Amino acid sequence: MKQVSAIAEVRAFLENYRQAGKTIGFVPTMGALHEGHLALIRQAKAGNDLCVASIFVNPTQFNNREDLDKYPRNLAADAKLLEREGCDLLFAPGVEEIYPEGEQNLLKMELGRLDKVMEGRFRPGHFAGVTTVVHRLFTIVTPHRAYFGKKDYQQLTIIIEMVKQLNLPVEIIPYETVREADGLAMSSRNMRLTIAERQKAPLIHKVLKGISAKAGIRSVKEVKAWGLRQFEKNPEFRVEYLEIADKSTLQPITTWQQKDSAVVLVAVFLGDVRLIDNLELFS
Ligand code: AMP
Repeated sequence: MKQVSAIAEVRAFLENYRQAGKTIGFVPTMGALHEGHLALIRQAKAGNDLCVASIFVNPTQFNNREDLDKYPRNLAADAKLLEREGCDLLFAPGVEEIYPEGEQNLLKMELGRLDKVMEGRFRPGHFAGVTTVVHRLFTIVTPHRAYFGKKDYQQLTIIIEMVKQLNLPVEIIPYETVREADGLAMSSRNMRLTIAERQKAPLIHKVLKGISAKAGIRSVKEVKAWGLRQFEKNPEFRVEYLEIADKSTLQPITTWQQKDSAVVLVAVFLGDVRLIDNLELFS
């Protein structure tokens, strides 16, 4: 695997492959890699001639300085994991490579209501940072396919919308959420949980499963209230939002009329660690 930090090096590496008509699969990440990321890498490898990963803790998508500072970073260990998976190129730039003009001039997209709810509401500016960095990375890597986890459901929806609006020549491939044996969605942030918090954390997935079991049987309102109560009973958790929404518009639904398009999404604080998860209902 080749590891580079400059845009020019990415271009030089990919040039010959592109001219030879090879396909490029791309997995953008913020590092602190786990099995969820590696599953995306395997997909990218299996579906393309070349697999490219990026590791960049994108400052513009953090609305909280402390969260950015505490975000786990372990480039040497990550590079080893990627090497083991047979990744061909790792692009790990510094902030000035991606934001030479500073952190202004973010991509301004009209995303309708997609970025007004949930993560967009509680993390103002987050999706402007996400779309900016993904757009810049796509311009640098020019992948044929890019792989994103359903773990970040709203992000995935917004990236699909961005690609559609800007007519970007890349296919977005979604991937199922990879979980620990006890159901906790894998996340780089999990390593910041204390032992006691880690033991409590599977409640998040349990509540989502409980909601899934009740969906269609009890009303949307009742099911949502049940979910919120489960967290209230456990004072270690502080719910930021728990929404039952339409899969494509991400707007809250009030009835189960369109069963195949319902998803439950949640963001909770467990101690000072913010965790998100979701589950597609009736599937
Ligand atoms: P991140 O490093 O958190 O920005 O994530 C990079 C990519 O990995 C994003 O597309 C995420 O949705 C995806 N990802 C993160 N955690 C998981 C997981 N547990 N299962 C599947 N994909 C994931």
